[in-house]
Amino acid sequence: MNEELFGRQLTATQLPPTFEPTDPRIVSRPAMTISGRWVRCERCHQQLEKAHVALPAGGYYCLGCLALGRITSRQSLLTIPEPNAFPPQTTTLTWAGSLTRLQQICAQDVQSVFGKRQRHLLWAVTGAGKTEMLFLGLADALKRGDRVAVASPRVDVCIELFPRFQQAFKNTPMVLLHGQ
Ligand SMILES: [Zn+2]
Repeated sequence: MNEELFGRQLTATQLPPTFEPTDPRIVSRPAMTISGRWVRCERCHQQLEKAHVALPAGGYYCLGCLALGRITSRQSLLTIPEPNAFPPQTTTLTWAGSLTRLQQICAQDVQSVFGKRQRHLLWAVTGAGKTEMLFLGLADALKRGDRVAVASPRVDVCIELFPRFQQAFKNTPMVLLHGQ
């Protein structure tokens, strides 16, 4: 129930149709805080000068995260703290493909750094199999009960990758999120 709010901040207009308003876990807070001549957006943390973002009808809006939908000081952000209650999975990787020797080496590097929760750069040309080289590391993470986010600055990439991850991890619930 209300899982769409876990770890996210939504305005009233963004709530899913299944939203259950009586849920006692819901935390509501002002979308913007006002201090002196400044307002601060609580969604993107942009600090804005009041004079630049005042609305004719009163209140302020955020310029910094307009792409996520306009947010004003008259709105609230609703969230439910992420419970991170992900049961470790046993059968994770359902991908039937195979990696070349070099891809395998890269995949094992990824697996190792994921396990140590370190940063890592995997740099290769389009079509080199970067997505597939993530699979071993992701499978391990899911077995540990971790939650995984794969992020891209391009919506078309998100849309293209999603079915590939669904295919590779058929038993793992996942969601595709983007600004459109
Ligand atoms: Zn903002």
